[in-house]
Amino acid sequence: MDHQHPRRLRRRLLGIGLGVAAASAIVAASFAPGVFAQAVQPQITVVSPAQTTSSATTFGNTTALQSLTVAETEGPYFKANSPEATSLLQDGMQGTVLTITGQVLAQDGMPVANALIDFWQANASGSYDNTGYTLRGHQYTDANGYYTLTTVEPGLYPGRTEHIHVKVQAPNGPVLTTQLFFPGVAQNSRDSIFDPSLVLDTQTNPDGSQSAIFNFVVATA
Ligand code: FE
Repeated sequence: MDHQHPRRLRRRLLGIGLGVAAASAIVAASFAPGVFAQAVQPQITVVSPAQTTSSATTFGNTTALQSLTVAETEGPYFKANSPEATSLLQDGMQGTVLTITGQVLAQDGMPVANALIDFWQANASGSYDNTGYTLRGHQYTDANGYYTLTTVEPGLYPGRTEHIHVKVQAPNGPVLTTQLFFPGVAQNSRDSIFDPSLVLDTQTNPDGSQSAIFNFVVATA
């Protein structure tokens, strides 16, 4: 489970030999749905101390870089090859409808087009579909780095607070594996995985559904 997918590893090795432009072409051309590596560990990106702040402070001509979105454990329920879908809703599905929108951004703040985002989560009762692909789906950001996910608010399951799992990958970047959390959930404070930087800013709409905005900041190379 800790190995890179052979195809991706091969692409990376090819990229080293062929240069960035050629590698980009290879990756773009072969970027098929559901190609996430299994359990790739988040890469550590080394940045200088001046680049670790997320403020807009500038140093000479260099604008400070945004902090990478915090990585979290994949957990036991990830499945590769999810269907491509921006809505995970199905007829008869229980739960509060939730729409999350946002951008995938590079550390310099530039939007990342064609980033792969793969979501998976428990249903409103706290159960994962481990035989099929209910509440699992991937999508790609548009030309301006935007994504939209329509789903339901996940339920609690033993030992965890409410969360949605996600993997995000810029076309030439490493996989970011993380989780999104919900505000005001009592179990947040008792969940060792919980991170306040990953809490959605959920708003309740007049029809009872919820909306949130969340931007991911990822490494792009
Ligand atoms: Fe989980």
